[in-house]
Amino acid sequence: MSTRESFPAELISKYGLAGPRYTSYPTALQFHEGFDAEAYRRHIQRSNDDLIPLPLSLYVHLPFCASLCYYCACNKKVTHNRTLTESYLRSLDREIEMQGELFDRDRQAIQLHFGGGTPTYYEDTQLKHIIEKLSENFFLSRSSTREFSIEVDPRTVSENSIAYLASIGLNRVSMGIQDFDPAVQKAVNRIQDEGETLGLIHAARKAGFNSVSVDLIYGLPLQTAKSFETTIDSVLTARPDRISVYNYAHLPHLFGAQRMINMDDVPSPQVRLELLAATIHKLVGAGYVYIGMDHFALPDDELSVAKKDGTLQRNFQGYSTCRATDLVGLGVSAIGKVGNSFVQNQKDIRDWQALIGDGKLPVWRGIGLSGEDRIRREVISAIMCQGQLKFGDIEQEFGIDFTDHFALELDSLRPLQDDGLVDISEEKLEVSPVGLLLLRAIAMKFDEYLIEDHSEKAYSKVI
Ligand code: SF4
Repeated sequence: MSTRESFPAELISKYGLAGPRYTSYPTALQFHEGFDAEAYRRHIQRSNDDLIPLPLSLYVHLPFCASLCYYCACNKKVTHNRTLTESYLRSLDREIEMQGELFDRDRQAIQLHFGGGTPTYYEDTQLKHIIEKLSENFFLSRSSTREFSIEVDPRTVSENSIAYLASIGLNRVSMGIQDFDPAVQKAVNRIQDEGETLGLIHAARKAGFNSVSVDLIYGLPLQTAKSFETTIDSVLTARPDRISVYNYAHLPHLFGAQRMINMDDVPSPQVRLELLAATIHKLVGAGYVYIGMDHFALPDDELSVAKKDGTLQRNFQGYSTCRATDLVGLGVSAIGKVGNSFVQNQKDIRDWQALIGDGKLPVWRGIGLSGEDRIRREVISAIMCQGQLKFGDIEQEFGIDFTDHFALELDSLRPLQDDGLVDISEEKLEVSPVGLLLLRAIAMKFDEYLIEDHSEKAYSKVI
């Protein structure tokens, strides 16, 4: 993928429909409350009993923010009420103890991620306390290859804090930037100093973080290809290891904060395409590898190596190199993945705290995967991560005849093949360079739940 000419405009209207991001399959829309705390316990027990239990990933959700970004679709709470945020930490401590008791202590946690909200809303020492609590209740890996990461809001940290975060064991950092253009920042209520932000990237390098990534968003109000290129040029001066460029999904019927955005300021599909084209042109031109969806990485970054080796994974944080793990979700609305199940905590802080206060796991809902779900999860993962699907691999793993099992799906892909998004032979499906931009549209053809339910209202546009 190299030039803007690779984006024929007619493909936007044809395939720029709404669709899931496939950070999981089935997606969270299929989770249901019939999957309860008891079901979760059973799946944990089964995973402990595996001949070789998987290592663990821990995800900690810290939902508080000091101010509201209007584009936000996260589960967060904007507050300055420290009583609330401190009582959240006490409940989190208790949840860490409860969940820690369920997993065998010899299962190493090789991955840890603090997400939000704004994890750095909390004081440095409070973050240290959480890591200590996790360490008391889980077996945290001490390997240099462990991936312990935190999302940082540059508006809430100093260069000293960055050094402190490294000193308490975190080795990966991702910084939210979104856009440096002052007009765009004003339109989304996120004013952030360019020089200070770039200074923090350099400080993270100096502090010894193995990987520094930054998040940008395209499709925000008032953005133009030219203004966004200026932001990207500025980011490139700091040369972060990874750059994620997310597609802003304007879904005000789902996310109240987005009602603050003037719809007239939101770029049209054509401008969004120009923004994406400009982004890819700039980043690939600067030597970054296009990993897929919204991720770019330097050629020697592990993500680029994994893409080349065919070992790329997809998880709730996007693309990852991490080998298979069971994911433990901690905190309000956190999602876990244990064995063949997904589980999600209560999404309302009071409900989450009330259950913990009663000594119960704060499970809200989840899903146990059927055999068919597992086949389709593998198919969708191959498309999203490798950009190709070898039918023989699926046949071997699941004992099916691929072309027979997926006859309807393959048939429905013909128009995409005619448009040059995929190449389908007898042995495999291969995504073309243009198709890489429309991975979701291709993966959706194998999503059994979408085939049954054509509702698009809960999803963002593919482009
Ligand atoms: S984008 Fe991040 S910092 Fe802004 S309101 Fe949402 S969670 Fe908070």
